Amino acid sequence: MIVKRYVVKDMPEALTKIRQDLGHNAVILSSKKIKQRGFLGIFSVSQLEVVAAVNDTEKADSVKPVVPAVSKQTVVTRTTQSTDSVPASSMETRRDAVTASDGQSVSGAGLDVLKEVKELRKVLAKFLQQNTDLLPDFIQRIRLDLIDNDVSPEIVEALILRAIQENNEINLMEEQEFRHILTNLIEKEINNSFPASSLAPTAHIVAFVGPTGVGKTTTIAKIAAVEMLKNKRTVGFITTDTFRIAAVEQLKIYANILQVPVEVVFSSDELEQAIETLKDRDLILIDTAGRNYGSSALVSELNRFLQASQPDETCLVLSLTTKSSDLERIVANFDGVPIDKFIFTKLDETNSYGAMYNLLHRYQKPLAYLTHGQNVPDDIETATSERIARLVVGEKQYG
Ligand code: GDP
Repeated sequence: MIVKRYVVKDMPEALTKIRQDLGHNAVILSSKKIKQRGFLGIFSVSQLEVVAAVNDTEKADSVKPVVPAVSKQTVVTRTTQSTDSVPASSMETRRDAVTASDGQSVSGAGLDVLKEVKELRKVLAKFLQQNTDLLPDFIQRIRLDLIDNDVSPEIVEALILRAIQENNEINLMEEQEFRHILTNLIEKEINNSFPASSLAPTAHIVAFVGPTGVGKTTTIAKIAAVEMLKNKRTVGFITTDTFRIAAVEQLKIYANILQVPVEVVFSSDELEQAIETLKDRDLILIDTAGRNYGSSALVSELNRFLQASQPDETCLVLSLTTKSSDLERIVANFDGVPIDKFIFTKLDETNSYGAMYNLLHRYQKPLAYLTHGQNVPDDIETATSERIARLVVGEKQYG
């Protein structure tokens, strides 16, 4: 039995080819309309796929259409098998088999074709980067949405191009499906390169740094409550934020409510002493002064405190209500401070979450928590890659 697959404009063209190739005894096993991938898998043409077969011993007068219901899988398998048994009457049939099986189990000429296609896609991807108006409308919409969401344009374009390169028949997709692909790409990147992680269960001393007013003290109180209630850990507070009386008072109020001991320290020597005092606590959370860390003197002071306390983890707390460019500058100012994880606050006060992804992507550091309100301890969640990805691609859940 010889089975062949034809991709043609219409049925008369198919019949002519089948007669030529397989003779008049051939039967049509299936026919269906298909969309052929076009330029970068985007612009498609409608065509007809016809699968025909003939017994190698048979030769008769007419083509008999029978059994139209053959699944795509069967069609591909039969056609692929047939390329061995049939002396290739046309290269076109072989090429079709290669693309139909989408790169699986191909060899020789097939591999060359795939390599060429890959190279071509790369060139075209570059071209598209400079001509985003060539993208289908729904991809252009998603692109603008992401940029609106404060994801940096370079990251958006790299993401979209990757999605196009890694997926076939983009043009046949729904907008939602493409968003889903982007979400998955981001999720995978986070999992592979900077997996989200809350405080390690073994962390004994954790320091929190960041500008004034971002919600450091409130976040520390939330984390303390979660660790005490959920993980049954004993907690102690230390504040080095003696610059503002209100900051000390605020931590003392939380300490009072949570029944947690609190130490107020004015120098790095006192910090060592405070840690000694609280050493029996499972977890010591250190609130540092929020300042303008543009000044190198302040960064040195912070580093002295960090050196004296030797934290197992240092979290940089940032508010998402801060303008994206200011966030970039603030993080750059923390360059000399050994940061382990990010925490983003005030998600309830914004609809733009892209800036957090820009920072995670650029610094390749994990995100520990997201906070979304003033309530202690409720308005905090442990970050997950899925959550971050969804927020970046457009899920609006707060505010
Ligand atoms: P710190 O100076 O960084 O220690 O910031 P604070 O903890 O004193 O918080 C400053 C203000 O931000 C307070 O009014 C907090 O209630 C508020 N705040 C903290 N976290 C959040 C949050 O996730 N969402 C909102 N809307 N407000 C928050």
